[in-house]
Amino acid sequence: MTEPVLIVGAGPVGLTMAAELARYGVPIRIIDRAAARTDKSKALVLWPRSLELMDRLGCTGAFIAAGMRATGGTIRAEKGAIGHVSFAAEGTAYPFALMIPQSETERLFEDHLAAQGIQVERQVELLRFTPDADGAQATLRHPDGREETLHTPWLLGCDGAHSAVRRGLGMAFEGETLPSEWVLADVHLANVATPPDELAIHWHADGALVLFPISPGRWRVIADIGETDDTTARHEPTLAEVQALIDRRAPGGIVASDPVWLSGFRINERKVRDYSAGRVFLAGDAAHIHSPAGGQGMNTGMQDAFNLAWKLALVITGKAAAPALLPSYSIERSAVGDMVLANAGRMTAAATLRGDIRQGVRNFIASLVLQVPAVQRKIGQAMTELAIAYPASPLTVSGGAHTSGPAAGERMPPRAGEPPIGAGPAPRFAILAENTPDIATLFARHAALLEATPRPPINPKAAWLVRPDGYVALVGESAAVGAYLERLGG
Ligand SMILES: Cc1cc2nc3c(=O)[nH]c(=O)nc-3n(C[C@H](O)[C@H](O)[C@H](O)COP(=O)(O)OP(=O)(O)OC[C@H]3O[C@@H](n4cnc5c(N)ncnc54)[C@H](O)[C@@H]3O)c2cc1C
Repeated sequence: MTEPVLIVGAGPVGLTMAAELARYGVPIRIIDRAAARTDKSKALVLWPRSLELMDRLGCTGAFIAAGMRATGGTIRAEKGAIGHVSFAAEGTAYPFALMIPQSETERLFEDHLAAQGIQVERQVELLRFTPDADGAQATLRHPDGREETLHTPWLLGCDGAHSAVRRGLGMAFEGETLPSEWVLADVHLANVATPPDELAIHWHADGALVLFPISPGRWRVIADIGETDDTTARHEPTLAEVQALIDRRAPGGIVASDPVWLSGFRINERKVRDYSAGRVFLAGDAAHIHSPAGGQGMNTGMQDAFNLAWKLALVITGKAAAPALLPSYSIERSAVGDMVLANAGRMTAAATLRGDIRQGVRNFIASLVLQVPAVQRKIGQAMTELAIAYPASPLTVSGGAHTSGPAAGERMPPRAGEPPIGAGPAPRFAILAENTPDIATLFARHAALLEATPRPPINPKAAWLVRPDGYVALVGESAAVGAYLERLGG
């Protein structure tokens, strides 16, 4: 029997990886040293791009049923509203941010896996591993203390910020811990003027305070409380302190009660340079951590998993052998990680700015630019992660005719009445083209890599070859598509 892929960590990223590989019929084991999944709300937002990718797994509906839609957020200073950002992006079936506690996200993924007979092996810890040419030799510790040594052809480190896999590879987690201290409160709030489908961002002179809706009456409050030199200290907030922060920074009689979770946190901005070494891969917080501003952390990690899983499945099932396929994971996702780190860092810097003059300049500029529709759209596209693209990837062939549709490297927006590209039990590319004899020949020759039939064209003059994760590989003539598929097959 084929040795299973070993997924270390059953947070949202490991669970996404497991769900994707299981869908493709790849044997897996997924272990987690914790006795149970998180009971904390941690990452609260699923963005439209994540919901689109989850569509391929067929589980987006269950998440939407369990969550709450947020359509935008308003930034306010003491003198009034500065601007509004809409999450109601065009060209997606999910024009909203889905507010859902991370505990629920993990529960739904576990249910999804359980329906396929896959259980997370709990209280099983990766102690150490030795990479080799065929994978890695790994040692696990079971709940009874027993140690198990096994060989896995692929070791996937989805084991969070303190990743044992990253440490085992000796990879530096380059970056810094920011000096600002934050408090987090998952509480019930009464008398909130903000509509329950909106985020409220308050840029007060003392610091930022943000309210995120979680479920009716329940909100996440986060606030920065200034800088300290001791980056190891963790502030433990009380409900009274949170109430005082709300009264000062978001006046209007809001009353906080029934805390579900009170915590202090600090922001780390760190990333590895390479997301893989041989047959060992890193994904999620194991590879990148950043400010929760913008709510991109978990989504970025889940999209790492969506990016890697189809490539790995093609290689494991022997359908593709292109030398560029697996290395493209690190190239594509590291570039996204850099972008997310930079954007989250900018948002945090803006929110934590101190000093009357600097805050005045910030507020003035923000109120001007946030009124420009093109800027609003750009921010919305970045936050919803619909703008993610891989133009510089070795899997992207640039050029070709693309005046009427997305260019190579860009996301192919879903089209009404068509199933999502990439849905189904095997990773398959789609071709959007007229069904000419040349195109029919490609389908006959590359049946293992392609959907059964072409999809309707965008433009009859060109074919769009789209990857199983919905990004355009190339736009061109059938000969160019054929050459691409030949290379991919190896
Ligand atoms: C307060 C807070 C608010 C946040 N808000 C947002 C938000 O709004 N939006 C957003 O996108 N992100 C947010 N994040 C970030 C988000 O929670 C993380 O990005 C996400 O949890 C990362 O998922 P992961 O699966 O990579 O890692 P984790 O969730 O950390 O999971 C890693 C798992 O690996 C297991 N593990 C570790 N070592 C081993 C080992 N040696 N052997 C076996 N198992 C191991 C751990 O037990 C854990 O279950 C927030 C985080 C915090 C703390």
